[in-house]
Amino acid sequence: MGKIISIVNQKGGVGKTTTAINLSTALALLDYNILVIDCDPQANATSGFGLNPKEFEKNNLYSLLVGESTFEESIQQTNIPNLQIIPSHIDLAGFEIEIINEMSREAIMKEQIAGLADKYDFIFMDCSPSLGLLVINALVASDSALVPVQCEYFALEGLAKLVDTIKLVQKKVNPALQIEGIVPVMYDGRTNLSQEVVKELKTAFDQLAYTTIIPRNIRLADAPSFGMPVFFVDRKYGGNGNSDLIFENAGAIAYLNLAKEFLLRNDKKILKE
Ligand code: ADP
Ligand code: MG
Repeated sequence: MGKIISIVNQKGGVGKTTTAINLSTALALLDYNILVIDCDPQANATSGFGLNPKEFEKNNLYSLLVGESTFEESIQQTNIPNLQIIPSHIDLAGFEIEIINEMSREAIMKEQIAGLADKYDFIFMDCSPSLGLLVINALVASDSALVPVQCEYFALEGLAKLVDTIKLVQKKVNPALQIEGIVPVMYDGRTNLSQEVVKELKTAFDQLAYTTIIPRNIRLADAPSFGMPVFFVDRKYGGNGNSDLIFENAGAIAYLNLAKEFLLRNDKKILKE
């Protein structure tokens, strides 16, 4: 059975989508079979893989959730082997309102994606910046929650509320839900603040705080505009275009290390060096 991991933080712009795209790509490059589910109506993960959400009017997460498309129709291949995605669509924005009166409305995602877990090693759900019904649906469907935290002012603000939400989901609907880890992102080694945040996360979350730290990195910021994960961006700058794997930039190296730490924490082998 594959593991389902929600990437959550109710704040926007904290690196959820960047982590979803690049952690999943690193794992796929390491030969694991990966599905990304784009759970954000803004569809940033979809476009970050170079797919145009408008091309999936009928075959996306929303259509799957409301029973208008099948897995086969909804799942799209990315340019990366071993890596598939269920694209998002702006229709998803209305989903929370549409299901408000449904029975077990927080378990719709779980019901609709049941049967996918045994087809993949890992499934990542890139969540929207909220703690609304869509995110609750993702948490109910998940084995764990991975939380990127920006190494900036107010980093820890809101984390208590997020942890409370996770505990509530555990208590009411999904007792097996775990916190996969807290990942410090957008780290700027030149500032005391970044270092302080990493220390605070370690104190507050102990083992749950990842050792790998994702730096603030220009390639990571640029990658979405090229519609590709950070691993392939150097080609755009005249890097070694013949190489299949380019781990030359600090952003790519960091996400590869994150993938390795993730695998170790999950007792999985690193299949490739
Ligand atoms: P979220 O999904 O939480 O809203 P994103 O992953 O979309 O956040 O990141 C917000 C913005 O910050 C994006 O423009 C992204 O390219 C940029 N970004 C994310 N992580 C980094 C990083 N480590 N270094 C530099 N820019 C980053
Ligand atoms: Mg996002």
